[in-house]
Amino acid sequence: AKRGRNRYVVYTDELDSALAHRRGVELALREALRTGEGLACHYQPLVRAADGKVVGVEALARWTHPRLGSVPPVQFIAVAEETGLIGTLGEWILREACTRLAPFEGVFVAVNVSAVQLRDDRFADMVFDALAACGMPARRLELEITETAIVNADAATVRLLKRLRRAGVRISLDDFGTGYSSLTLLKDLDVDKVKIDRSFVQMAPTADDSAAIVRAVSNLGAALGLRVVAEGVETEQQRVFLREAGCDELQGYLFSEAVTEDRIESVLGGFAAA
Ligand code: C2E
Ligand code: CA
Ligand code: CA
Ligand code: CA
Repeated sequence: AKRGRNRYVVYTDELDSALAHRRGVELALREALRTGEGLACHYQPLVRAADGKVVGVEALARWTHPRLGSVPPVQFIAVAEETGLIGTLGEWILREACTRLAPFEGVFVAVNVSAVQLRDDRFADMVFDALAACGMPARRLELEITETAIVNADAATVRLLKRLRRAGVRISLDDFGTGYSSLTLLKDLDVDKVKIDRSFVQMAPTADDSAAIVRAVSNLGAALGLRVVAEGVETEQQRVFLREAGCDELQGYLFSEAVTEDRIESVLGGFAAA
């Protein structure tokens, strides 16, 4: 009994310190959002599978804190979602990315959007404001929404996405293959793009089931008029497989990791800022 009790004490101590850590992260993030200090937006190119030409970039949030160090996005995004800070963070990223990429005509900008942001009915207007403020046409913006978020979308979210779509904003289903969405849903929502989750992409050249999934998604995309992207491409073998499987665009360390804003020009190569 005594040992059990000790275990229990240890357990709550660990829980307390985990909660304290979380609270610490929350406060630090709140401060970063207030001052803008330590927050950055990095950009990873997406290339056309056919010829390797850069066609767009994905904005990825980065945060470095003086004491916490560099905090992984999955960690601070989760805290932001739980605390409601994701609205402010998401708006900051969107404005930052659109402002930075606006001069590069012909390049699209993909921005990740959390399911929590889609529950705010002011979201669409915020997006239109951001586009207007930097003079970027709506068709150059892609909102990446995870398949899981879409599967669980309520009627209000579906209306919101349709409103964005009608204005020309493109919708891309992120982490596709992990969320069990249906064909009907893809058609109903009129999405433009699916991004095959990197777990399938990385296994595809060697594992038959992953290869079958990639080929099936790619055929599905062609049949529904969707563009298909493979993310997490790391090897030449994967690139060759994915191109032959019919993927339209590729993204991954093989081409480039996400780069700081001052390296955008070098990554975009042929594109000169207008
Ligand atoms: P994601 O949207 O699936 O983004 C792709 C992640 O894969 C990024 O990690 C990227 O750096 C990484 N990646 C890219 N190429 C490769 C590759 O070849 N191999 C491997 N192993 N990884 C690759 P990152 O930047 O750590 O972001 C992780 C996740 O955090 C993102 O996954 C996204 O869900 C979330 N996230 C990042 N920035 C934002 C943001 O501004 N807003 C929201 N809501 N979520 C964000
Ligand atoms: Ca993404
Ligand atoms: Ca993804
Ligand atoms: Ca992923």
